[in-house]
Formats: sequence, C-alpha cells, structure tokens
Amino acid sequence: MGSVLNNFSGDTICAIATAMSDAGIGIIRVSGPDAISICNKIYVSAKKEHNLSEHKPNSITYGYIVDESMNRDLCVIDEVMISFMKAPHSYTREDVIEINSHGGMLVMNQILELLIKSGCRMAEPGEFTKRAFLNGRIDLTKAEAIMDVISAQNNFALESSRSQLQGKISEKVKEIRQKIIYQMAFIESALDDPENYDLTGFSDNLINIINPIISEIESLIATSDEGKIRKDGIKTVIIGKPNAGKSSLLNALTGDERAIVTDIAGTTRDIIEETVRLGDIILHLIDTAGIRNTEDVIEKIGVDKAKAMVNDAELVLYILDSTSEIDGEDKEIISLCKNKKTIVLLNKDDLSSNIKISEEIVRNLFSESENESVPVIKTSMLKGNGIEDLKSAVTDLFLNGQLVPKQELYITNLRHKNLLQKTLNSLKLVIDSIEKGLSEDFYTVDLNDAYVSLGEIIGEEVGDDLVEEIFSKFCMGK
Ligand code: GDP
Repeated sequence: MGSVLNNFSGDTICAIATAMSDAGIGIIRVSGPDAISICNKIYVSAKKEHNLSEHKPNSITYGYIVDESMNRDLCVIDEVMISFMKAPHSYTREDVIEINSHGGMLVMNQILELLIKSGCRMAEPGEFTKRAFLNGRIDLTKAEAIMDVISAQNNFALESSRSQLQGKISEKVKEIRQKIIYQMAFIESALDDPENYDLTGFSDNLINIINPIISEIESLIATSDEGKIRKDGIKTVIIGKPNAGKSSLLNALTGDERAIVTDIAGTTRDIIEETVRLGDIILHLIDTAGIRNTEDVIEKIGVDKAKAMVNDAELVLYILDSTSEIDGEDKEIISLCKNKKTIVLLNKDDLSSNIKISEEIVRNLFSESENESVPVIKTSMLKGNGIEDLKSAVTDLFLNGQLVPKQELYITNLRHKNLLQKTLNSLKLVIDSIEKGLSEDFYTVDLNDAYVSLGEIIGEEVGDDLVEEIFSKFCMGK
C-alpha cells in the first residue's frame, strides 16, 4: 500500500451543492482545469458578453446562464451570480466556479445539463472533497470531519468534528509518528554505519520512549466508547406489557421534536426506529409501533424477536404499570434483560391503588436474575414526571454521570479507533521483542507497522479502495 496523493489528474466536474429541494437560492459547483472555459460558454454578462475569464479571482459577478443552442433569441436559462476561486486558492485547489442560481430543482437541473453538454462530468458524491484531499489541501481525518460537520446531530458531534477539522487528531497522530520514525531512522543508520552510531543501551531507551506512546494511544482509544455514545447516540428499546405506558413514554420523549423515522432493514414493517433527544444525548428508539394494541406483547412479537431486539439494543427501557401485579410475563422480560444496561420505569405513579409495586421489589427481581444495581425510576407519563430522572440515569449508565464532555480529544470514528488499536498491537510487539532480548532488526518491522497504521489514519498510507469507500459516503456536491 502506498500513497495515492501523487497520481491525481482531474477532469472538470459539476454538481448541485445545495439541498435537493426547491429553495430561494441554489448553488451549482464546478471544479477542474476547464471550469472557466466551460462556464464561459454558458455565461454572459449583463452586456451579453462571454467574458468570465476576465473576472478577477475571488470575486462574484452578475450575469445570465444561456443556452445558445436554443433556436430563438431569448435563450436565457436563469439570472445568476457567479463566484470564481482560482487554483490553488480554492476548496479543491483547482479552479472552482460556483453558480448561484434560483433554487428550483428544474432550473438547477437545466444548468447542470448545460454544463455537462459543454464538457463537464457529473461529480460523484464527495468528489470535491476527495480532490481537496488528493491535491493535498486536507488530510483524510479533515475530510472525514467535513462529512461529520454536515451530518452532526448534536452539539457534541459538531464540536468534536470541528476540532478534528482544525487538525487536532492529525496533529496528535503526526507527533507520535514523528517519534517513531526518529527511532526507525536511528536503528537503520546504526545498522548501516555501526562505527558512527552506537546501539548500546538503545533498547532500554526505546522502552522508555514507546511505553508513554502506548499509554497515550490507550487513553485515546479509551475515549472512543464515550465518544461514540455522545456522537452517535444509544440504541434503545422500550419494552413492557400492554398498557404499561410505552407509547406514552415515546410521546413524552419525542414531544414536538418527533425526529427521523426510518424502516430498519430486515425487520417487519411494524418496527420502526425513531431518533429522540434526551438533553444532548441521542436515543435511537426501536419502536414496536405495530404491536401496541395486541393482548400480549411478548407473544405477538415472539420471544425470539423480543430477545433479538433486546440483544441488539445498548439500553433497555422497561416500563411497568406500578398499579398492576408483577406476573410471569414480567419475569420473562426481566430475564431477557440479563447482561443488559436496563432502566426500569415504574409508571402511573400518580394513581392511588391497592397495588403499588415498590422499587425494592423490582430491584430484588433483577438481582435474582443477576442484574444488579438496575436504576428504578418512578414516573407518571400522564403528568410528565420522571423524564429528568431518566436523563440522569442514562447519563450515569453511559457517561459516568458526566453531562459535559471532559476530554480534550475524543476518538469518534471507528476507522481511527481500529487503526489506533493496530498501532497499539504493533508497539506492544516491539516491547515484547525488547524484553525477549531480540535484536533491533526484529522489531523495526513492528515499528514500521505502527508507523504505517498511523499513516492510514491521516491518509498518507492508504490505497485507492479505501479512499473510494470513504468519499462515497459523502453527499452530492461536497
Ligand atoms: P402501551 O400499551 O404500553 O403503549 O401504553 P399506553 O402508553 O398506550 O398507555 C395505556 C393507557 O395508560 C393509556 O390510556 C394512557 O393514557 C394511560 N397512561 C400511560 N401512562 C400513564 C400514567 O403515568 N398515569 C396514568 N394515570 N395513566 C397513564
């Protein structure tokens, strides 16, 4: 695997960069060596001149998009403002033109078609940012951060992608890489030129250099679980018998902010996923919408499916009607929750009733099922009580009670985490070899592996396939 950075030569690409819906203004972006000449063919100034190339870089100019192949006098497609960024001072480091047109889908598509007829190629998703990467303006972590800024669903996600975009992760990775390559270079020089470079005592020294790096990488990896929860949210399932208050809980959580509703592939139409916010924590709720009105939840969805849902979830919200007796079905649910982070909601606390299930009874049932210290919260969905306590319980269970992020840097990208783990394994092998008294040329291989894995994070050691994969997840026009 080597660098892909030096073999790039681009054609001229175009895409609609704004949302695919009607809006006041739309932007069509063009990038590549022929951006100016192609746009000039379809642009005329207010004086009806094709003079785009005469405009100053980093300026915006008024004019019209025209289709001169139309067999009539008036061939104006739209009235536009065009901005022009000259290479290398642009997003892609190529000549970039942005056409600000009216934001109707039809008019933007007509301009796009004209550009393609005039010599542009339709850009692939993420191709503008890919060019910024291939032309060396940004590294891979920054490219990934751009996508994360766009898709951020909460303040934490936005903040951590901003810090990644500012280069916090690249800086850390480069700093560690630098230390490793220095050691590799020293070994190489000593092996080549033993008279001038002395390796006596080198191994002991190396241990003192590598061990702190290992600790540093371990603490970076340790931020990733919390980082993922803060950024991506918690897969949550609401479970409980009919009438316990599951839909009321769902409504209390969704409130006015009823969010993204998506079908989950591979499940029945009955089960949908809803994303809700509990403060700044995102819960992805597996909502068993279609099974609400049935007599027996577990029976209807099937024990196996209920088990699968619980297994798949990171958090189970088990809601009980506190005014009705605990029965075998509840015990079945409790046993499903074994080894799962579970929060019990004792609902309908507002009702006075002969039967009142206490927190203690529930805790005891859970400890019989070897699920100790399960938080039990009294709620009234009718009165809207208990949601704050639920929020604290989730924060305690997943974020050690820390509502506000504590770390300076969080690893939130699985690719980075896996590569840091690979780096860690290689560095541990180095320590192993030193402790076994093996010679330097043994562990230079592992040092080099660590160096390469770190390089993959920032994109200095990646193959075309990975680059394709990463950028294909981008949106169009970015
Ligand atoms: P589900 O079958 O588990 O989804 O339960 P629902 O949310 O549909 O609630 C069943 C019934 O209990 C409805 O009539 C709700 O209005 C009522 N209910 C839900 N939560 C409470 C509560 O906290 N107090 C009272 N008094 N009634 C509730």
